[in-house]
Amino acid sequence: MRLFLLLGILFLSFKAFAQYGCEVKSGPNSLDDLLRSIKKLNSIDVRSSCTKKFGTSFTNYVNESLNSGIKCLMNLSGKGSAQIAEKITSLIKLKGTTIECEANGAKSTTSIATASINEANNIPSKNLYHPYLVINSDAFDFKDSNSLDKFKATIFHETIHNISYGHGEGPEIAYSCEDCCFHKDQNNKLACEVCAADYQNGADSSYLQKIISWANATGRTHSIMLDQLTYDGLIKSPGSKQLLEVLVQLENAHGQTLVNIFTSKMLLEEKIADSEIVKSIAEIEVPKKYEDFIVIAKKIARARIDFLAKGDYKLALKDYRSIDLDSLQKMFDKDEDPFKQSQIFELWLYLNDEAEYLKKAVTSDSDKSEVEDFQFKLALMNVVQTKSKKEKN
Ligand SMILES: [Zn+2]
Repeated sequence: MRLFLLLGILFLSFKAFAQYGCEVKSGPNSLDDLLRSIKKLNSIDVRSSCTKKFGTSFTNYVNESLNSGIKCLMNLSGKGSAQIAEKITSLIKLKGTTIECEANGAKSTTSIATASINEANNIPSKNLYHPYLVINSDAFDFKDSNSLDKFKATIFHETIHNISYGHGEGPEIAYSCEDCCFHKDQNNKLACEVCAADYQNGADSSYLQKIISWANATGRTHSIMLDQLTYDGLIKSPGSKQLLEVLVQLENAHGQTLVNIFTSKMLLEEKIADSEIVKSIAEIEVPKKYEDFIVIAKKIARARIDFLAKGDYKLALKDYRSIDLDSLQKMFDKDEDPFKQSQIFELWLYLNDEAEYLKKAVTSDSDKSEVEDFQFKLALMNVVQTKSKKEKN
């Protein structure tokens, strides 16, 4: 099942590094230079909320985290990782950073930590100004060595947010560098490859290839974000053979869907893409139990081809509007077979996702309002498969 981006992305706004007033130097400093500057980290303002809860060792562990993280980045000898190491040290030297500890985290009970990405994340009521980290003090126990390791990894991860990298937009730097430098037991070689390289943007094809291998190997949930990255790339350059191939490959990795099978068939038949992965998905024979869903899945695939491969947003909109949502709803209400209901729900999720991307792509106000109208109809549908629905009746 495809998942729309429901991730708890806390800070999404992105700003260029220029806001710190520090240019990234052309060549990396020596490791010694960097570590010397990190030793002078008296510009880290650890609030008493942290030392009260964790004692004075809190600051030592923060230093250990940054030291070993930066050392790791420098040892990767990649252009991207060297720049990240420099940005972290420059930021701390020039601006310092504030670390606050709060029970239950700053924003939610599930988050173990949050960090500012830029000044837009300032919280004057808490006297928190960029750059800052907020640690959920309930989430860590230094007496437990696993928890302490997680703490060090988290400090490093959150500091990467401080130098402007978020999640879900642009290359996934925070998780890849965290996995590479702090989770050596996991399949971290691929994470290191993602972390080390330097990319133009999140739709950079070399980035996408690396992150797909990493996500596939580890099952890291970041693969969820890849859909969006790929779509963003395709909206910018519709018809990109490589991105289209990445898209069907990703969906294949998430779990095969009818829509993906028909998308691959159309890509192949219309000679838009012909990689091995497209061919192998296109060859899949659709089992008989899916027959009720073929018409609508084909329509969605048709719309995606018009949208993503041909860049014809108006035609894609027409394709979507030709889908009979009423009969889809009727089919859902009539048949209580969990398999059928889950198929309908999956198609409905597809339509929601696609409509959201289409809205990003259309340019005229009238097209936008047509997409919104379609989204409104989808929102009115009741295709969430629940036992409680039946129990209530
Ligand atoms: Zn994060």
